[in-house]
Amino acid sequence: MARISDLLAAGPTYSVEFFPPKHEAGWLSLGRTISELEHLAPDFVSVTYGAGGSTRTRTADLVSWVRRQTSISPMAHLTCAGHTRDDIRAILTDYRAEGVENILALGGDLPADGETESDYRFSMELVDDVREFGGFSVGVAAHPELHPRSPDRGTDRQHLANKLAAADFAITQFFFDIEHYLVMIDELASLGVTKPVLPGIMPISNLGQITRMAHMSGAEVPGWVIEAMEKAGDNLDAAERIGVDLATELCARLIDEGAPGLHFYALNRSWATREIFRNLGLRPAL
Ligand code: FAD
Repeated sequence: MARISDLLAAGPTYSVEFFPPKHEAGWLSLGRTISELEHLAPDFVSVTYGAGGSTRTRTADLVSWVRRQTSISPMAHLTCAGHTRDDIRAILTDYRAEGVENILALGGDLPADGETESDYRFSMELVDDVREFGGFSVGVAAHPELHPRSPDRGTDRQHLANKLAAADFAITQFFFDIEHYLVMIDELASLGVTKPVLPGIMPISNLGQITRMAHMSGAEVPGWVIEAMEKAGDNLDAAERIGVDLATELCARLIDEGAPGLHFYALNRSWATREIFRNLGLRPAL
């Protein structure tokens, strides 16, 4: 098992994000997905967390399963929304006992009716607590197209720079236009940030679903992406293939531009990620 800060120091990392399924069938299918992806030797996999603790047990179970049953290093997402400091200490204590070494420290979005007691306002406070607890490599979220609650660009970037001064690395929300990522990296550099910012890649298979997700996270689905995807019509296989081609092109440009790695939002499936690895010639020796 490895700390992500050490992996990033050694060279580009290729990683995949999963969410903990709700039902038995989802766990079985995710087990297959992980074993298919294990052949690609991802540097780490990350597991999402339901803000307020809605997936607390399932996230911990999946993180532990990856650590015990696979050769891949896991990272647990953890959100501060809806949690007390005691909750967070208890969760970190369990992860430490389990040998988990990586935490993605997030704000989290509680559902509209999810107002519960919280000792935290911003993810930065969680980063500080995880640091003080000790023993974890800590990542944070970055929003190339700005976080929807940021009042302006400068404030968004300054808060991100403050987080990155304390954390080891960031992972971005997904984006389709590389300029959003490159401009953000330049803006962070001008604020003195030198920590790695991993681009988050979402291979599209369902335009409607991605448009809804993008809307919630403040991201844009550019017209040229919509046009390309619409060429598939009702042909789901063609849509997946176009999504993979678009993502491959974006990844190739990111690698050329010196991105510190690629983080795939795989939505618990393996095909698109495997195709992109193959197209890019990643892990050729395997
Ligand atoms: P914060 O860093 O707290 O930022 C939120 C807003 O507050 C921003 O506008 C920021 O500029 C502002 N802000 C920060 N600090 C201050 C300050 N000191 N004063 C004033 N304003 C401030 N959500 C989940 O629920 N579960 C997950 O597993 C999950 N995984 C994610 C993984 C990645 C890679 C990404 C990019 C996002 C993920 N999210 C997840 C979504 C995330 O929780 C939401 O985007 C959330 O709204 C913001 O999270 P954050 O960590 O950026 O919050």
